[in-house]
Amino acid sequence: MSRIDLHLHTTHSDGSFPPSEVLKLAKKASVTALAITDHDITSGLPEAMSIGQELGIEVIPGVEISSFDGRSELHILGYCLDWKDPVLDERLGTLRASRHRRNPLIIERLRAAGLDVTYEEVRQMAGTESVGRPHIAQLLMKKKYVLSAKEAFDRYLAEGKAAYVARELPRPDEAIRWIREARGVAVLAHPTWIKDGGQGFLGCVTALKEAGLDGVEVHYSTHSKSQTSGYLELAMRLDLLVTGGSDFHGITKPDIEVGYGRGDLKVHPRLLDPLKTIAAGR
Ligand SMILES: [Zn+2]
Ligand SMILES: [Zn+2]
Repeated sequence: MSRIDLHLHTTHSDGSFPPSEVLKLAKKASVTALAITDHDITSGLPEAMSIGQELGIEVIPGVEISSFDGRSELHILGYCLDWKDPVLDERLGTLRASRHRRNPLIIERLRAAGLDVTYEEVRQMAGTESVGRPHIAQLLMKKKYVLSAKEAFDRYLAEGKAAYVARELPRPDEAIRWIREARGVAVLAHPTWIKDGGQGFLGCVTALKEAGLDGVEVHYSTHSKSQTSGYLELAMRLDLLVTGGSDFHGITKPDIEVGYGRGDLKVHPRLLDPLKTIAAGR
């Protein structure tokens, strides 16, 4: 049965497969339309679009922008945006530069904590992928400082731990504005990441809607049935678009498959038209 998947990562950010491989997996999974949503970068789109044409899969231009609201890191998905827009390109470039400054700082903190690791080793670990905290976790496992990636985050890499370095991120309302100024549609990714700080979940999403948010990722690999129905209700109440995707990364999230998530994800193709309608008005 046909399905769509509006949240996929490739080697252009922290995914482990290039766009062409992700498209092939999508074909096998009977995905008829998809969005490549790499973190803060759109460089995977030309390859995805040309392979999409070959395989008969519609490729929606996408991006996933990291932001911080003072309590939670929130990810804003941008769809159907003008990804060649020079202003957007410059904004994303600045965001990526802050990520690249961060990794060597994390290594410095690990070394200060007495761990024998170098940035060069992390780069080798990442191979052709862009360096991120998952690679640092892999290195700590390889060097037997920890037994699992989870332990690496719990002991060193997570917020508040010895080697945590905060990123300079835009606020969610800025990320939304960047997407809309590039004539795209802005959607809140994995809404479970919201830490409402007493404002209430509804209050947080209402504030995002007032800042221009268009939709919410209701269907997501790790959502329970009750979470999905709760977010669906929220979307209806606030008149937000409903979207969904697997957040496929490849081998770093081995339990998640393109189109199927953990097996029970189903994003219906009918969700695409409302998204395109909003995009056409931008
Ligand atoms: Zn995300
Ligand atoms: Zn993602």
